[in-house]
Amino acid sequence: MKSLMIIIDGMADRELKAYKDKSKKTPLEIANIPNLDQMAKEGLCGLLDSLGIGKRAGSDTAILSILGYDPYDVYTGRGPLEVAGTKIKFKEDDICLRCNYATVNDDFVLLDRTAGHISEGTEYLEKTLNEIDLGVEFKLKNSAGYRCVLLLRDDDLSPSVEDATTEEGKKIEEIKPLDDDRGSIKTAKVLNEFIKKSYEILKDHPVNSKRKEEGKMPANIILPRGAGVIPRLENFYEKYGLRGAVVSGIGLVKGMGHLAGMDIIDVPEATGHIDSDFMAKGKAALDALKTHDFVLLHIEGTDEVSHDKNVKEKIMVLERVDEMIGYISRHVEDTLVTILADHTTSTDLGDHTADPAPIVLWNGDFITDKVREFTEREMYRGGLHRIRGMDVIPVILDQINKSKKFGS
Ligand code: ZN
Ligand code: ZN
Repeated sequence: MKSLMIIIDGMADRELKAYKDKSKKTPLEIANIPNLDQMAKEGLCGLLDSLGIGKRAGSDTAILSILGYDPYDVYTGRGPLEVAGTKIKFKEDDICLRCNYATVNDDFVLLDRTAGHISEGTEYLEKTLNEIDLGVEFKLKNSAGYRCVLLLRDDDLSPSVEDATTEEGKKIEEIKPLDDDRGSIKTAKVLNEFIKKSYEILKDHPVNSKRKEEGKMPANIILPRGAGVIPRLENFYEKYGLRGAVVSGIGLVKGMGHLAGMDIIDVPEATGHIDSDFMAKGKAALDALKTHDFVLLHIEGTDEVSHDKNVKEKIMVLERVDEMIGYISRHVEDTLVTILADHTTSTDLGDHTADPAPIVLWNGDFITDKVREFTEREMYRGGLHRIRGMDVIPVILDQINKSKKFGS
């Protein structure tokens, strides 16, 4: 039996403070998701605390733990994972950061952390940015949409630096070193220089003049964060004996897969945003199952709209994801399907919370439970009860009969 894991990023939510007449419900409870409901009904359900009860997780630490890599041991920051997800060549000691193309006003106040979800023209901006004279070797590379990565290479640099803020309405302050180390002070200085120069070089860039004419937010600054060096991840095949593949629109998840030695399936229609073609990704995942034992299909759009505090779009994305889930359930053969959210993302707060998130195993030989709907509330009645991220792969391995017995 094979295994398909579908992570619907930040799908889980809290009771919405106010949404028309349907207040006190979550987006999963409002959305029309018959296929997810059906799988919850037929499957084994539960709740997931990716890092442990009460611990708020980023997508990076959450997904690492779900794949069985203890983030408290291996995590070195989000930047390196994003860097690994691009086709950029990196060395062991490179300082890796993830960045946003963003919009600031003349006073450096952040207006839009995604530069209006820029999706066109970034290849020209990338070229211009790489012409900056920074005094150290560096490379900026686009990832997907408004996301890009920055790699710094020099003898005495350190990842112990603050993040640039991505909180809209706040002024972009200078990045400070996190300790007195010479390398940290130098790295902070280099990054501040880069941010300043990115603004100077981008503010009147032709791509941005055109965006302004079209009433769009200009991508006039680069905001780097999540500094770190490349982590070492044990090879996924050696760890579990499963040939793994990853289908995702975002660099973070591709990077994790790449570092774990899994195959990255590129789907041109996958954007990591709500305009992503979920059906194309679902089909690519089914295809990958023909040649792999384990496929991770990651959907990002649900988390994006939650950060944007856009309830309406979250419901819409959930319904579109549900159609893809329906297609998968009708076409998948001899495969255990696991559907989960890596964490809860509250659309009221616009950020992740530690509230447990749904997890459903479907198409296995397990004893089913009494859950009837794919919602946070229903999952409290699930037979899988409440598990941590590090428990997910062991549960899957047991179900597909690839677990090793301890003792005789
Ligand atoms: Zn996430
Ligand atoms: Zn998020």
